[in-house]
Amino acid sequence: MLRTYMKRGALPDAPTRKALPESVQKWLKQWRRFQLRDGMLCREVMDARTHEIYFQILCPTERRKEVWQRYHEAAAHAGVEKTLSRIRRFFYWPCMEGEVQEFQLGCAVCSLRNREAPRAPLHPIKVSYPLEVVALDFLTLGRPTDRYQNILVMTDLFTHYAWAVPTKDQTAQTAVHALWAHVIQTFGCPAGNGGVERLNQTLLHMLRTLEAEKQQRWPEFLPELLQAYNNTVHGATGYAPSYLMFGRHLRQPVDVNLGVDPEPLCHDLKGWVRDHYQKLSFAYEMTRKNKNSAATQNKRVYDKRAQALPLVPGERVWVKDRDRQGQGKLHPGWSPEPHVVLERVGDTGVVYRVRPEKGGREKVLHRNALKLCITPATDNYSPAPEDNQEVQTLVEPPFYCVVPNVPALQDGLPDLRRSTRSNFGQPPARYRL
Ligand SMILES: [Zn+2]
Repeated sequence: MLRTYMKRGALPDAPTRKALPESVQKWLKQWRRFQLRDGMLCREVMDARTHEIYFQILCPTERRKEVWQRYHEAAAHAGVEKTLSRIRRFFYWPCMEGEVQEFQLGCAVCSLRNREAPRAPLHPIKVSYPLEVVALDFLTLGRPTDRYQNILVMTDLFTHYAWAVPTKDQTAQTAVHALWAHVIQTFGCPAGNGGVERLNQTLLHMLRTLEAEKQQRWPEFLPELLQAYNNTVHGATGYAPSYLMFGRHLRQPVDVNLGVDPEPLCHDLKGWVRDHYQKLSFAYEMTRKNKNSAATQNKRVYDKRAQALPLVPGERVWVKDRDRQGQGKLHPGWSPEPHVVLERVGDTGVVYRVRPEKGGREKVLHRNALKLCITPATDNYSPAPEDNQEVQTLVEPPFYCVVPNVPALQDGLPDLRRSTRSNFGQPPARYRL
């Protein structure tokens, strides 16, 4: 209907408008922002953080779930906010927040892999420009049969840009070697830091979402997961790490798959450099501000734990699965078979008798070993088929970061030229505002 009005180039008169369904009336309120582009109805938006103008395709009702699913999976089953931020770059529909939230609650992979994250103390480190401090941390997977036992996770503390390298041991020599090969050779020498980052938990989360067969070959999928991580908005900065690092949003396989390629903006070199500099200056200033408030906010969210609600007979639940079968930390932690609550046992209020939904042996379990199952009963959860065509073939030896294609800077813009500096510990001039 909206399309008809667009083609006519005029809004219907007030009485006609009032008679229209409420959903259409809502659309009409944003009338000035709509455009037809390549036959598709689009909405013009300005990103408040980057000041970029972009166009969102109005997503028809029947395709919304598919769009959500593609982005949610491409982001390795990220949370609502992160998934939304990625969808919003290309799509729009009314009430998308609520709908995406609903979709996520029904995602079987998400509800199975969400293990309680162990609490670690938060101690923020002050950083004020990219690659000032890189944090290193080893993550052990506890899978004795794997070729690689560890992942060295390196994170730039300002942009939260991350690299991950599978390693066989946890020696300092291994760490230095990886740091040299993956960070220093491309980006120069940052200060090191042994600080523990929250990324470890996120990375484990992402690895757990891999299907069992892919988990066996996790080092092959690590770059893909890292790319998803680096291209998703980070809570501490409000920006995607790769945006802060490279000043633009990197194109994702899922964007290409869905055919939502943004038109490249054509600039001459000077225009590009000026634009790039302005965008980054703005983003860095915002990030510095965000970081200060995020540190306090993070701690509050982190310390707040959700109370487990009592269960009612007949409710469907997931049951904690202690049989790890060599999967170590990559085990989802919850058995993929839904159970039904039969009754509460005793009067402590936290012990329940449950039975598999499809029938089977009854179990008596503590509330902590049970989790409410919101996935629809018809949704027969089974791992996706193994030959997933969307998975890229990766070439060894793996290199885990995307190198920006920065054109060589010309004369005439001396302030922006990369210097051969020796000012360790001091922010280079181009990061000072
Ligand atoms: Zn999910």
